[in-house]
This record gives sequence, C-alpha cells and structure tokens, in this order.
Amino acid sequence: AISRYSTAAAALEEPIKPPVSVEYTQLLINGQFVDAASGKTFPTLDPRTGEVIAHVAEGDAEDINRAVAAARKAFDEGPWPKMTAYERQRILLRFADLVEKHNDEIAALETWDNGKPYEQAAKIEVPMFVRLIRYYAGWADKIHGMTVPADGPHHVQTLHEPIGVAGQIIPWNFPLLMYAWKVGPALACGNTIVLKTAEQTPLSALYVTKLLHEAGLPSGALNVVSGFGPTAGAALCSHMDVDKLAFTGSTETGKVILELSAKSNLKPVTLELGGKSPFIVCEDADVDNAVELAHFALFFNQGQCCCAGSRTYVHERVYDEFVEKATARALKRSVGDPFRQEIEQGPQVDSEQFQKILRYIRAGVDGGATLETGGDRLGEKGYYIKPTVFSNVQDDMLIATDEIFGPVQSILKYRDLDEVIRRANSSRYGLAAGVFTQSLDTANTVMRALRVGTVWINCFDTFDAAIPFGGYKMSGQGREKGEYSLKNYLQVKAVVTPLKNPAWL
Ligand code: NAD
Repeated sequence: AISRYSTAAAALEEPIKPPVSVEYTQLLINGQFVDAASGKTFPTLDPRTGEVIAHVAEGDAEDINRAVAAARKAFDEGPWPKMTAYERQRILLRFADLVEKHNDEIAALETWDNGKPYEQAAKIEVPMFVRLIRYYAGWADKIHGMTVPADGPHHVQTLHEPIGVAGQIIPWNFPLLMYAWKVGPALACGNTIVLKTAEQTPLSALYVTKLLHEAGLPSGALNVVSGFGPTAGAALCSHMDVDKLAFTGSTETGKVILELSAKSNLKPVTLELGGKSPFIVCEDADVDNAVELAHFALFFNQGQCCCAGSRTYVHERVYDEFVEKATARALKRSVGDPFRQEIEQGPQVDSEQFQKILRYIRAGVDGGATLETGGDRLGEKGYYIKPTVFSNVQDDMLIATDEIFGPVQSILKYRDLDEVIRRANSSRYGLAAGVFTQSLDTANTVMRALRVGTVWINCFDTFDAAIPFGGYKMSGQGREKGEYSLKNYLQVKAVVTPLKNPAWL
C-alpha cells in the first residue's frame, strides 16, 4: 500500500503561495507602529521551506521601557481603566467582530508563520479567538466586589480593581489563542498590557492588535513588542513598573520568570508550562474510538500542544490491538503543505524544534522502544516529520519522561488501575489527562486520583472559553480561561467604614 507520506512528499515540492501579504512588521507602542530603538530586525521564517517571510522589528530592553511607559500612562491617567465597563465591553465586542470579518487573512498569517494546517486555523482557532474575546467582553461589566459581614459596627466592602500594567509573554504553538487567553481577561478587568510575542511567530498578534485599535482601544492600553526571550522578555519580567506577569512556555523559562519577578518588584506571576499528559485506555474502552482520540490527542497541531496526550497507557488486554490500530492511523495521517485542504499535519515550527524532536526519536530507538512507524523527516526541505509511533515504551525512557512537543506517540502497557494511576502521577508535570472507559465508577476513581489540572473523560482537547485551564506541579501556577482567570488580573481592596448607627445590620 502507498502510504500518505509519499503522496504528501511530492506535494511538498512546490509550496502554495499564501493567500495573504504581510502588512505589519513594526512594534506597536502607544497606538503607533514604530521601529525598534536599535533599528534592528530579525527574520521570521516559513516552516515549510525555512525561507524568510518578513523582517520584523526586534524589540529590546529600550523598547520594553517605551512600551511599559505607554502602558503605565494609559493605566494611571486613563482612559482605559477609567471608562465605564460597558464602554470597554463594546470595544472588545467590536474587536471580535473585526477579527471575524478578517478570519481568513488572519488564519493564513498564522499558518504561514507557524506551519499549522490552514483549515485548523481558519475553522477552529480564529473562531475560538473571537469566542474568547466575546466571552471576556461579557465579563467586563459583571466584575464587582462584595459587602462583607464583619464583627462590630462596621460597614465592610471589597472593591475588585485592575492590578495595573500586565506583562504577558506568549509561545509560538497557538499564537492567537494564547493572545486571547491573556489579553482577554486583562483588558476586561481594566488593566493595560505589554505583550511580548514568540520570536518564531510575531505576525498575527500585530495584525489583530491593529484591529483592536480600529475597534476603539485607546493608545497605550495594549502594546505589542516582538523580540527574543533573554532580551525583550527578560526586560519585561524585571521591569519595576510592571505589576503582574503571565507566561506560557517551557517549565525551564517559567523558573527564570519567577526569579526575575523575585529579583525586581515581586510582581505576581501566573505560569502555564509544559506537560506529559497521560491518556489512559481502560480494558473496557471502545478501542476504535480510543485509538482515534489518542491519535488526535498527540498529533493535533503537529504534536505542539502543552497538554498533548503524550503517554498513551493501554491496558494489557487491548494493548496489541491498540498498537496495531494506532500505527495504521498514524500511517494514514496526511502530512504536507498546510495550505492544502486535505492536510492534517504541517511542518514543525522551526529548525530548533525539528532537530530536538529527531533527537528524541533517536533516544527512543536507542533506549529500546519499538519504532512502529515514522522516525525521520519527510521531504528534503522545511521541518516536516513523519508521524511516529513507539510501542513497548517504559516509564523511565526519555520519550516517556520529557516533553517532546512533536508528532511522536509513546504507547505504554499496564495491568491494573492502581498501577496506572501511580504511573500516571509519577511525572513532574500535572497539566492534563484523558481517561477512556465505559464504567462511571472507573472514570470517577481515576479522575479524582490524578494530580492534573484537566481530566477529559472519553474525549480530549475539548476547550471552551468558560473552562478553566492550568497545571498542577511543574505544569504551572494559576488558571487561565473561565471566571477563574479574572482573579489573575484583579486586586481586592477591603474598605472599612465605622457605622454610627448600627441598629440595623
Ligand atoms: P520558551 O519557554 O523558551 O519560550 C516561550 C516564550 O518565552 C517566548 O516568547 C520566548 O521568547 C520567551 N522567553 C524565552 N526565554 C525567556 C526569558 N529568559 N525571559 C523572558 N521570556 C523568555 O519555549 P520555546 O523555546 O519556544 O520552546 C521550548 C519548549 O517549551 C518546547 O519544546 C516545549 O516543550 C515547551 N513549550 C511549551 C508551551 C506550552 O504551551 N506550555 C509552548 C511552547 C513551548
């Protein structure tokens, strides 16, 4: 049989011309597109070919200083935190409408910069972005404090106030969605922002932030600085005028962010970090459905998901059948130019990630796991990797302990529920998990025993604006999305007033 790879490899020869052009490459500070203070730029590359898409202004400490000064002024003097919540809500709603109107251009930019399938960007991610912004717009005028009963003759109330200037650092795997998860709640609560995008994917944030200004966002309320982590990112984390940090990325960088906060002004930090999420297939699971969902859980977005189901634990009674079917499914995966409609998998984001994944694959083979399919690159150019499946994986192998962040599925065998719970929990991470069973009792037992921030039962990667997301253990601190995310961007002020006439409670 001809695998889908060979067809796709031929399709890689002639990359499709993206149906969009790059309009914005400068930094967006105080409502204006400006060059970096140093005049420097860096190339952002097309992962299909490694060729330059555009040269983008490279923000540095001096640009962060300018952006923070603009955000500080916009916070201290307004109008963003001082306008009515209803006005803020209307701006966010107009923003969502504009993004919806430009759905296809934005999706094309995201695909071009990141390599993800255009169908996924256009039909899932940009619509989800719009949904998230509308969701947070909905919160804007429903944020309020409480009246608190207190001993003694006092009237006690709490005010829920914005924290101030938020520094936000986002990764490259879902540039738009990470923007919405962070910018949405921060703006809804009345904060101002300096956002540093990932150096691999600076383009879509500039485009949508231009639309946000068209929707009526006042200058300085959201500033976007493209640039690198150790320069622009670190300057943002260390800045004394930044009141709060939110970060998504690797656990290693998360530790650096906390340190920089501690060494400067102790700004509170929320972290959304790595994972090594177990996907547990019980002996009574519907195997075909579990195979399909396990495939999706791992391979979605080229395997570049923090919550990827990257430890597939399968009960020994269904293990062989599962491995055979999972391998067949991986072989059928269509890999190729992400602008092609039928494509399920595009290239990895850049050469660094590509090389790292290939090193992990070699470690899997050297460590004694069985390579069922895949195992190397696809085509001669760009960063395509064949969907890879390993069976006979042991818990202590590198491919079972480390976040690979690529299209590499590791299938492990287990005997009983207590054992798989213990093994699933033995990771330093605790982001998410999937449980596949037809027994409600089993689902309830496993769900409560797992030390993770999200459990999907008989489903995976089901996201919604209202569902909180975040990690236990080294997968992070705090929760994003949903009502929980608002806490990250609010201060609580207690106001106590003596009552002269306490006859009435
Ligand atoms: P990273 O943590 O280095 O980068 C994420 C963001 O942090 C980027 O914007 C980057 O510029 C910034 N950053 C890097 N160093 C910084 C510093 N010293 N100070 C401030 N900001 C800094 O992640 P990466 O190198 O792009 O990817 C490495 C690994 O991280 C991946 O292989 C994957 O395992 C993991 N990752 C996880 C997620 C997630 O959603 N949890 C997302 C992307 C990457």
